[in-house]
Amino acid sequence: MKAVIIGGGISGTVTAMALKRAGIEASVHEAHPTGGEDAGAFLTIMHNGMDALRAIGADGPVVENSFAADGLELVTPDGRTVERRSFDLDGLAGPRTLTRASLYLALQEEAISRGITFERGKRLVSATSGTALFEDGTSAEGDILIGADGLHSIVRNLIDPSCPPPRSTGLDVVYGYTTDTSVPQAPSLYRMVQSLHAFFGYTSTPDGTTYWFARLPTAEGVRSGLSAEEWRSTAFAAFDGEPLPAAEIIHSTGDEVFGGHSYDVPSTPVWSDSTMVLVGDAAHAASPAAGQGASMALEDSVVLAQCLRDLPDAPTAFAAYERLRRARVEKLVASSAAVSSGTTSDRDRNWLYRHHIEWDAKISAS
Ligand SMILES: Cc1cc2nc3c(=O)[nH]c(=O)nc-3n(C[C@H](O)[C@H](O)[C@H](O)COP(=O)(O)OP(=O)(O)OC[C@H]3O[C@@H](n4cnc5c(N)ncnc54)[C@H](O)[C@@H]3O)c2cc1C
Repeated sequence: MKAVIIGGGISGTVTAMALKRAGIEASVHEAHPTGGEDAGAFLTIMHNGMDALRAIGADGPVVENSFAADGLELVTPDGRTVERRSFDLDGLAGPRTLTRASLYLALQEEAISRGITFERGKRLVSATSGTALFEDGTSAEGDILIGADGLHSIVRNLIDPSCPPPRSTGLDVVYGYTTDTSVPQAPSLYRMVQSLHAFFGYTSTPDGTTYWFARLPTAEGVRSGLSAEEWRSTAFAAFDGEPLPAAEIIHSTGDEVFGGHSYDVPSTPVWSDSTMVLVGDAAHAASPAAGQGASMALEDSVVLAQCLRDLPDAPTAFAAYERLRRARVEKLVASSAAVSSGTTSDRDRNWLYRHHIEWDAKISAS
């Protein structure tokens, strides 16, 4: 069997590596012309995402390019710390934070070093029966086509033209980095602040760079097309005058600011047809609040490869994959949406973090 994978972000590269380990040939076709050096924000891969990478021996490059997050603190608008949560779970390897650009590059380099064909500048425009057609007029042929093409997936629409579009979460998310070591720091810790109008979080690297994000309630389209400076001043205005470090940290940030509206995909009715299947954000996307989208994409990738390894044909494997994944990912998307809207603080994360994939476990059809 040969798999053509569309999208070389998180799930595409890891699916290719997992398939290779399962003895299935795969090639990755990524629309972006470069390795992702300009992919803006940062993210945290939680215990369960690291576990999925470990299942296929691909956790090393992520650990090398990231720093540890040991826990989080919740702070009130007047600056009081009201809760501390440790990420230490009985020796389970903890979460890692890194820029999206470093994650993409680390995974892509690892996939290429394992002998996987990785093509850049290949934007899928259409597909039929495992054959992918790209914008530049070229094509790629396989027995199956895996849609790892993210939130605005083309493959999702090819499988089911009536699938619902991504849903606005009602939040703009702004990310930034400051190397000013005089601002308040949160080494190896996520400090989260619910202010009067918005939500702010920050963490600091071992060398003192502070990574921060702000979630600003806003309708879709209100702030489209803002420059880095406009995003910075918008985020600053949301916290200015409050007794929090947020405004000070944002003020100290140069042009390394990225912003955009956020979306989720609560339920995709059809995940596959006889030759095409979805993984990661293409199948389900969570709002950023739970910090789990990448980890869920990593779990998907490894479980799909196990299903294709153990089951006799693609439709049977796709059905088993959906059976193993759908309830978990949809529960996560719903819980992340509830955290985003402030209707729950979602304290019990054991069901998320303790998920374990045993690579050698045999997958059955039912
Ligand atoms: C602001 C923000 C912050 C986040 N923070 C976190 C976090 O802290 N922790 C976490 O776990 N998750 C986080 N997420 C979610 C996480 O980024 C996604 O869940 C994750 O990237 C999904 O991986 P993926 O491989 O499915 O999609 P992506 O990483 O989006 O990769 C999709 C790839 O497909 C390519 N592509 C798209 N269309 C085509 C096409 N037509 N042809 C070929 N290639 C195509 C894209 O260029 C891209 O490289 C965050 C998301 C956002 C927006």
